[in-house]
Amino acid sequence: MSNVPVAVVTGSNKGIGLAIVRALCKQFQGDVYLTARDPGRGQEAVAKLQEEGLRPLFHQLDIDDLQSIRALRDFLKEKYGGLNVLVNNAGIAFKVQDTTPFAVQAEVTLKTNFFGIRNVCTELLPLIKPYGRVVNVSSMVSCSALKGCSQELQQKFRSDTITEDELVQLMTKFVEDAKKGVHQKEGWPNTAYGVSKIGVTVLSRIQARVLNEKRKGDHILLNACCPGWVRTDMAGPQATKSPDEGAETPVYLALLPSNADAPQGQFVSDKTVRTW
Ligand code: NAP
Repeated sequence: MSNVPVAVVTGSNKGIGLAIVRALCKQFQGDVYLTARDPGRGQEAVAKLQEEGLRPLFHQLDIDDLQSIRALRDFLKEKYGGLNVLVNNAGIAFKVQDTTPFAVQAEVTLKTNFFGIRNVCTELLPLIKPYGRVVNVSSMVSCSALKGCSQELQQKFRSDTITEDELVQLMTKFVEDAKKGVHQKEGWPNTAYGVSKIGVTVLSRIQARVLNEKRKGDHILLNACCPGWVRTDMAGPQATKSPDEGAETPVYLALLPSNADAPQGQFVSDKTVRTW
């Protein structure tokens, strides 16, 4: 088994994920895994970084596929005996002009952006080593979507005692309400992406709280963040930040020094903790 520290970035064959891998290759003392659901796209991205003189490693990972997540888990356990840094970056968004029915957008978006990340966390968080760092890439949109929720939902999502099961029930209810065409009547905002990112931010708050309760002595820090508005296939060419600039806050959180005890369970943008 290798004692080398290891970092994994999900959805890193392009966009912000690729830029996070690039920065970690330069700044993280250890092995950095670029992961992709499609091995061809993943290997192409690895080759691109190799041309820049960097040495990322590759592992397949489709966060929609539990078997794929478990294969990565078993690999990390066997080769490294755990994991030091996990960046949950993979995500999807329907374009604004997409005419796919809202109910379908809700189901598909939540499947990857919330349930996918949650499955990755369920399988990989137990592997995180002492002083490990976990970064869940959410979005500022989670804050605006929260403000678009009914007072009752806002209270639940801001609660310091909400459990992961309760959050899963709420995210499931959103998809069901969307299918019945009653999501707005039930107090949800009219944005599947926004609700999925509320899920990511609240999940991060819950997971950090559980780490504080169950693994206090391990000094693991887990936070959600917004990379900013970044020029990628998702956000388009008008966005204000380059992918490397978008990687800055996620990488800052992934490399918080071992003597840091904060931020923990926060939503962070431009390296600054934001009020949830
Ligand atoms: P992007 O260019 O579309 O890249 C998304 C990445 O996620 C791709 O590598 C994609 O792989 C991967 N992915 C999607 N579904 C996956 C799955 N099931 N399993 C594994 N990988 C999967 O988007 P981006 O702008 O870099 O976004 C990265 C993250 O930042 C997302 O979570 C996004 O919501 C968040 N974010 C972005 C912005 C922005 O302005 N760009 C703002 C706020 C938050 P494929 O190539 O195979 O599709």
